[in-house]
Amino acid sequence: MEIVSKNSLHEIQKNFKSNKTLKGKYHKKSQMFVYTKRWIETVYRIIKGGKNGHNPDKFVSSFLDISPTLLNELGVIFLIIDLDQTIVPHGSFDIDKKHRNHLKVLGKISEKTNICFLTNRPDHKREYIIDRDTGIKVISGTFRKPQKQAYQAAINYLKAGEDYSKIVMIGDRVWTDIIGARCLGIKTIQVKAILWHYLFSL
Ligand SMILES: [Mg+2]
Repeated sequence: MEIVSKNSLHEIQKNFKSNKTLKGKYHKKSQMFVYTKRWIETVYRIIKGGKNGHNPDKFVSSFLDISPTLLNELGVIFLIIDLDQTIVPHGSFDIDKKHRNHLKVLGKISEKTNICFLTNRPDHKREYIIDRDTGIKVISGTFRKPQKQAYQAAINYLKAGEDYSKIVMIGDRVWTDIIGARCLGIKTIQVKAILWHYLFSL
């Protein structure tokens, strides 16, 4: 199996354009993640051939702008939500009151609505605190977004079944949150990173 270590979308596009072979290996120190060449090719086909394959179904300024109406329009009742820069500043344990209340509102869009967080940053203490404060489970583990196994773990937890069109991934990063979900047919909402709001409100 050929693997690549390029985790930047730009790099991948550049390499494909120049027909360079994508080679690489897992770099433990920098924790750079590896992808199979076949997976990259699939992603690239979506980007190149698909109708705006790397674009989210919706783009909003903040998680707080995601209304029950928007979720109803998309026809989704299962929510997979990224943590860092989507709900909390990077690495934070503390979900503020506005976001906690908004999670409650979105959790009531239907009787079957189910929500979980999906993060690439495993941290038992943080997961315990966030679960305690919100009642929402944090999924993390060996697999990382955009690997499909990461999404699969969230889907299994949500008991969302086979119909992925009822699932939405909400996150700030195109590469991990949006493309990974789109590869599986999951709907996507991209939010501006929390850091962006901070920088531009100074
Ligand atoms: Mg994020």
